[in-house]
Amino acid sequence: MNKYGLIGNKISYSLSPKLHNLIARELGKEISYELIDINEKEIVFYIKKLKDKEYAGFNVTIPYKEKVMKYVEVLTGRAKKIGSVNTLYINDEGLLVGDNTDYYGFSKLITINESIKDVNRAYILGTGGAAKTVFNVLNDLNVDVINVSREKMESKDFNSVITYEELKEVKDIDLLINCTPVGSILHKGVPIIKANQKINKVIDLIYNPLKTDLMKLSYNSVNGLEMLIYQGLKSQLIWNNIDLSLNEEETIFNVIKEELINEFIW
Ligand code: NAP
Repeated sequence: MNKYGLIGNKISYSLSPKLHNLIARELGKEISYELIDINEKEIVFYIKKLKDKEYAGFNVTIPYKEKVMKYVEVLTGRAKKIGSVNTLYINDEGLLVGDNTDYYGFSKLITINESIKDVNRAYILGTGGAAKTVFNVLNDLNVDVINVSREKMESKDFNSVITYEELKEVKDIDLLINCTPVGSILHKGVPIIKANQKINKVIDLIYNPLKTDLMKLSYNSVNGLEMLIYQGLKSQLIWNNIDLSLNEEETIFNVIKEELINEFIW
């Protein structure tokens, strides 16, 4: 039985063990999947366990998606481009590989929710790991992207970063994407938006609750559950070197979505 885990900090809320056990069941694999709630100094200790084959792979979450990159010996093209790693494993040469499956997860979310493709300009709230992934997916789709930060800043990772004060001046927002923790069950609230702003479409990467207060501001809104499932599925396909057709992936996705949805608050 292969052993996997999620490396992060303050992750007791995470449903990744449940998600990964469901995915493994659908792939016909027996696995164990642990929450590895550690401080930064302990990362190196767990990487040694991966090299010693005690674990077969790790996912990485807040706040280590960028911090683990310094230990990685082979960075995949997409992880390098985005600057964020959420999947680790050891390759046949014994080298630590860092990959990013959030890119795949968000791309699938866009594919599933057809209408989102027809936007010219998107505003991304936040400038962290998820914001970088979302920026890269949309940039690759030729969408004009503006990030929004609590701080006035210039960043080589994005095209343009404005403040929430500047966002308040935009009357008609085509697509707004929340890549901050604000609105989750652990961090209640709505990222700062003016009441009379027209927001056509909202994507919230949060999935618990399934309908955040921000999503209620638009008739066309999507949560992060589809992204969550597809990034997890992609990690397991990489770890197990499995190639599935899009139809096979979709069948697994549908089964898992139906079972997992009961775990969340509406
Ligand atoms: P992160 O690296 O910690 O970045 C979050 C960003 O949000 C920060 O860079 C910050 O940007 C902004 N932020 C933080 N606290 C805030 C506050 N109190 N008010 C307003 N803005 C705040 O986290 P992440 O990995 O990008 O994840 C962000 C969210 O996306 C989390 O809720 C995570 O669970 C979710 N997520 C979901 C999926 C999925 O599969 N659905 C995948 C990845 C992440 P500024 O400092 O520039 O304001």
